[in-house]
Amino acid sequence: MPRKCSICIDERRSEIEGAVLAGDSYRTVAQRFGISRDAVVRHRKHLTPATPNSLKVEQIFPSSTLVEQLQAFTADAQRLKEKAESEGDLRTALAAVKELCRIVELVARLRGEIDGRAQINVLNFQLDAETARRMNEMFLKRHLAREVSP
Ligand SMILES: [Zn+2]
Repeated sequence: MPRKCSICIDERRSEIEGAVLAGDSYRTVAQRFGISRDAVVRHRKHLTPATPNSLKVEQIFPSSTLVEQLQAFTADAQRLKEKAESEGDLRTALAAVKELCRIVELVARLRGEIDGRAQINVLNFQLDAETARRMNEMFLKRHLAREVSP
């Protein structure tokens, strides 16, 4: 009979799983909880696969501390995005949008709406003022052309 997995019976199991699901490395998780990296890797097979709506964030984080942290990060990113936009700092605004995307992606993964095995490609590009101006111009040109044409 196989030996019982130490994390399955660990009282911090949900916290450990939360850290793994949040994308922390096995080594980081192992160090934080004072357990072996191998145990974390082994336990990965015991994670209940999340299916849409089968798992509520509250079930993963009974303390809801991490949920509160996510909400705080979301509020921060939102606030910085608005500040940057109002100051015309598009680069910072875009960085904030990217962070918001990452948060949404993480929450979606926690909810099981994104297959953990699926490759997620995040468009990574820099937008300088000149490019932004040209994109804006192009958009307006197309938009106006559509409105003018019969
Ligand atoms: Zn286990």
